[in-house]
Amino acid sequence: MAEHLKTGWPQRVERQQDVIDTVSRILSEVEHEGGPAIRRWSAQLDRWEPESFVVSADRIKAAAETVDEELAGQLEFARSQVEQFARAQRATLTDLEVETMPGVVLGHRHLPVSKVGSYSPGGRYPLIASSIMTVTVPKVAGVDTVVAVAPPRDAQGIYGPQLYTMDLAGADVILCLGGVQAFAALAFGIEDVPPVDLVVGAGNAYVAEAKRQLFGTVGIDLLAGPTEVAVIADESADARLVAADLLGQAEHGPNSPALLVTTSREFGTAVIAEVDRWLDGDWPTKEVAGAAWREHGTVVVCESREEAVQVSDAYAAEHLEVQTTDDDWYAANLRNYGSLFIGPEATVAFSDKSIGTNHVLPTARAARYTGGLWVGKFLKTVTYQRLTADGARTIAPSTAAIADAELMHGHALTARLRNP
Ligand code: NAD
Repeated sequence: MAEHLKTGWPQRVERQQDVIDTVSRILSEVEHEGGPAIRRWSAQLDRWEPESFVVSADRIKAAAETVDEELAGQLEFARSQVEQFARAQRATLTDLEVETMPGVVLGHRHLPVSKVGSYSPGGRYPLIASSIMTVTVPKVAGVDTVVAVAPPRDAQGIYGPQLYTMDLAGADVILCLGGVQAFAALAFGIEDVPPVDLVVGAGNAYVAEAKRQLFGTVGIDLLAGPTEVAVIADESADARLVAADLLGQAEHGPNSPALLVTTSREFGTAVIAEVDRWLDGDWPTKEVAGAAWREHGTVVVCESREEAVQVSDAYAAEHLEVQTTDDDWYAANLRNYGSLFIGPEATVAFSDKSIGTNHVLPTARAARYTGGLWVGKFLKTVTYQRLTADGARTIAPSTAAIADAELMHGHALTARLRNP
């Protein structure tokens, strides 16, 4: 039986009623009043009420001056890695046409969504890398219009390097708005920018709830809320490195859970001690990471690797690192995770920033039923059928019989008309 050395990861993710109510109020006001409601909420929540929420070409040009040559080069490196992987993934999605019976042809095609709204978080940290993930990939998919949006950082609006990156990644329109009002603007339209068809991107609990409530009015990619990390490690791993990887993600915010699953009690105790050592040190974001660890840090000792897989799958963490002597076995047997990091060299930060896989990933156990953002999320797999008269005569009897049994006489008629 698994033993908990430390608990804190919420067992059941309950949506908070106050978050649900706030989001519902903002969305409903924007739906009914439009622009004035967006302006009011932006002023109230972000003290941001510019003449226009659409970022001007001059402002984008000025943003380039906030990025030095070194950072520009590294941003281009990251962008090209994300683009390269997305292109390779796109190539696996081939159209299909098959003749299932003589004269009966069925097929599918992957068609890009026309207009996408791409959110990059910017509350606690201006997540520049999110702009790469959410703008580059829809462009690879063939989306016509990508409306990129991020919150204001200061009186100038979007953080300069983030704005530069949105433009670099290929945004067609850029809006400066944060949180719920940003998603409301994307879904219902703002100024001259028409509503989009699909909204994507990660964010805090308000952002995740806004997407959930907007689903249906627009499409959404997945629910990607506060970041989570889990590590499966045995006594062969480096406890200090594992502790750093847990805290490295806990830095996202005080509500970010971090989990260690280990087959060694001694190793579990060693990691807890190493986390404390890191937190005794001096680094700028340790207060946030420490608060997250104290509240939501969890350490589970399992009796076997099979039990470790079971425990990890139940948590269904967004990011999952494996550092054991059996990494390949774990990789083959784990099922529920947003992205898997195999071996001690594969740290989550690489994919958060620049390795090429997408960092917008499922949280709150959504990894049980979905993977993260990828080029396929911007494509609709649509089907078609083409028949000869002989083909129609082959299908019509079964269609008519089923329709008759369902009491759907119109359906039966249209089938019989094709089988005179
Ligand atoms: P954010 O951009 O998500 O949210 C900032 C906005 O929240 C503000 O502009 C404001 O309008 C709104 N807001 C703040 N307080 C509010 C309130 N009381 N009521 C209504 N709206 C309010 O930035 P953030 O807050 O820093 O959160 C970023 C989140 O994104 C973190 O939790 C991080 O872990 C998460 N993240 C997740 C993934 C993923 O793939 N799951 C990836 C990256 C980041």
